[in-house]
Amino acid sequence: MKYFIDPFGCVKNQVDAETMMAFLNKEGWVSTDAEQADVIIINSCGFIESAKRESINAVMAWRSAYPRKKIILAGCLSQRYAAELEESLTEATVIFGDKDISNIGAASAAALRGERYEHSAASARNAVGGASAVDEIESALPERPLLSLPGSAYVKISEGCDNHCAFCSIPLIRGGLRSRTITAIIGECTALLKRGVKELCLIGQDIGSFGMDRGGQELPDLLAALSTLQGDFWVRLLYIHPNHFPMQILALMCDDKRFLPYFDLPFQHGAAGVLKRMNRRQSADDYLALLDHIRAALPDAVIRSTFLLGFPGETEEDMGELFEFQEKSALDWLGCFTYSREENTPAYSLKNRVPQKTALARKQQVEEKQAAITKRRMERFIGRVFDVLVEEKIQGEELYLGRLFCHAPEVDGSAVISSDAVLEPGYFIRGKAFARAGFDLEIAPVR
Ligand code: SF4
Repeated sequence: MKYFIDPFGCVKNQVDAETMMAFLNKEGWVSTDAEQADVIIINSCGFIESAKRESINAVMAWRSAYPRKKIILAGCLSQRYAAELEESLTEATVIFGDKDISNIGAASAAALRGERYEHSAASARNAVGGASAVDEIESALPERPLLSLPGSAYVKISEGCDNHCAFCSIPLIRGGLRSRTITAIIGECTALLKRGVKELCLIGQDIGSFGMDRGGQELPDLLAALSTLQGDFWVRLLYIHPNHFPMQILALMCDDKRFLPYFDLPFQHGAAGVLKRMNRRQSADDYLALLDHIRAALPDAVIRSTFLLGFPGETEEDMGELFEFQEKSALDWLGCFTYSREENTPAYSLKNRVPQKTALARKQQVEEKQAAITKRRMERFIGRVFDVLVEEKIQGEELYLGRLFCHAPEVDGSAVISSDAVLEPGYFIRGKAFARAGFDLEIAPVR
């Protein structure tokens, strides 16, 4: 039995795809390309309109490429719209949500038989004292295949979210916050490091709220536990809601340089009125104070953020406030998105909607401003020597791509390494940044 998995969406969804592969491999399935596969699994995204369309188009594309192959639609889209898709998306053999991915084997077997998959059967199994889904998933995580770049792995420390930002469908899809145990996370990290992983990227919808479903913020405790592990590796923190930034981690990060001074803090906007309607519960001044605090403790700190443009009621005055915040915050990296009206989210019924054309124009304005800021920010690293995680060789050139601490996987610029010596992807070298090229830093290896 052979399968091919086509992953979509965020890195949290990528970990689910990797975990489904672990279960299938354990049950004797073999991962292969689409041509040879008996079952094609599309691990979909259901967060915003464009992502939903992309996942549906993937089903249509695979169906037209392989009219008789079995196709499973897994992931967030099928979790969010299971009933509708069961009804309407006949191009997919099976609709398989992500509530209990440990059942992907049973769903794939059903697909192979050309049958629809009965979730109820699976949940009945769990109900009668079978190993709980969480236990099953915990046992699969450490050995899962990795779809990340060489030397890097995402470690999902929690699932779901309790923040209920007005525009966001994640709580509808992934449910409320469920934090893993620190013991389980340390077990997974230890196994990944043993497998040669050099960078552990801690992820969740909001890792700042890790442990709050058990009564308190536990991210400092988790970092303290990680700090006891031996070896030369990086820990990168991704997605801390600025309202839940646990200040105690700064001292830990000063003491243990394996914790990278890199923070992904989604601010979403800078205008007071917009932040209020988004249910973000803090102001641009709060965010600037947080940045000052972080930069005082960690002068090299690199900040990535996200802005959402075109939220209902957003005015030109609001954009003025946002540009001012953008200037003052001097972010290193910024991702910009336009608002997507999502049913059943608190913002869905808000009036004064912003035309998509206007939202896109505002997004472009912000991105143009940010390009100059990012280039200026990256120049502060020129002339300095860093650890560089090598990722791939550029064919036909004595050049390699890699990343420094200031580059998160897949979203930021890169390190372009000039080397006539052979470098091993997935390993660290020491390199000196000697120039900036666009958003990238040019690196020369040093002994
Ligand atoms: S923090 Fe807000 S935007 Fe992020 S997943 Fe939670 S509700 Fe959605």
